[in-house]
Amino acid sequence: MSHSSTTRVQQYIGDPLTESTPVEREKLEEIFQDIQGDLRFDHELNGCLNCGICTATCPAAHYYDFSPREIVQLLWTENLEGIYDAMQEKIWSCAQCYTCAARCPFGNSPGGLIMVMREAAIKHGMESAKQVLRPFSRVMLKLISTGNQLSPDMINPEGFADWGPNISKVDAPLELLRKAIPMPTLHTTKTAWEVNLKTSVELYTIWEETGVLNSLETIDENLFDVICDIMDEKRDDYDDWLEEQDD
Ligand code: SF4
Ligand code: SF4
Repeated sequence: MSHSSTTRVQQYIGDPLTESTPVEREKLEEIFQDIQGDLRFDHELNGCLNCGICTATCPAAHYYDFSPREIVQLLWTENLEGIYDAMQEKIWSCAQCYTCAARCPFGNSPGGLIMVMREAAIKHGMESAKQVLRPFSRVMLKLISTGNQLSPDMINPEGFADWGPNISKVDAPLELLRKAIPMPTLHTTKTAWEVNLKTSVELYTIWEETGVLNSLETIDENLFDVICDIMDEKRDDYDDWLEEQDD
């Protein structure tokens, strides 16, 4: 039995994603211009036969009320209201597997277009983006502040509430086990591996220059502030370290 994408997303966030306030035409055009102006757009949308091959091969379409064909048609016909509606909910059902891109006779990449739409949703601070990404804030904090996505100490009931009772089966002397790994950079449980100070500071510059931090500020200002504090602290540590090397 298939479930609607609404049900799926509500399992994460609890409330409906739909923004009730009517959206100005100007705003719809601005969002579409951002999508259309993306460098990837012309590579990933070359026309659409409305043949439905992408939907027939899409794993997400088998389980949710979601169709890559429909998304591509909205973009191809420049249906601005429909695009905005899809950004409220349906684009978050895609698993980004790109099976669709391998099958489309036009060489379209519906999955790639959905990624462009997701980035536009984040850029415009859409409520759907905030709600869908909220459960990942702890992972984002780890990734941006330490350069690691997942750390061994996150394998606990708080970090993986969705594992239910199975998480209690993960009961190991982590500190001891990590120390048994031959590589010293893995002798930690707070990060997946040690990222040295210089690499961390370089990563911060990349997050800033590529606009990742701006996007984060748009969708989660509190998390952004916490990460900025961590970055400032590590940059100070790095400057101190450089001064020590000069002495
Ligand atoms: S995107 Fe490609 S596969 Fe999907 S409906 Fe359009 S032409 Fe067919
Ligand atoms: S990338 Fe998304 S739209 Fe394309 S087949 Fe995978 S889940 Fe479906």
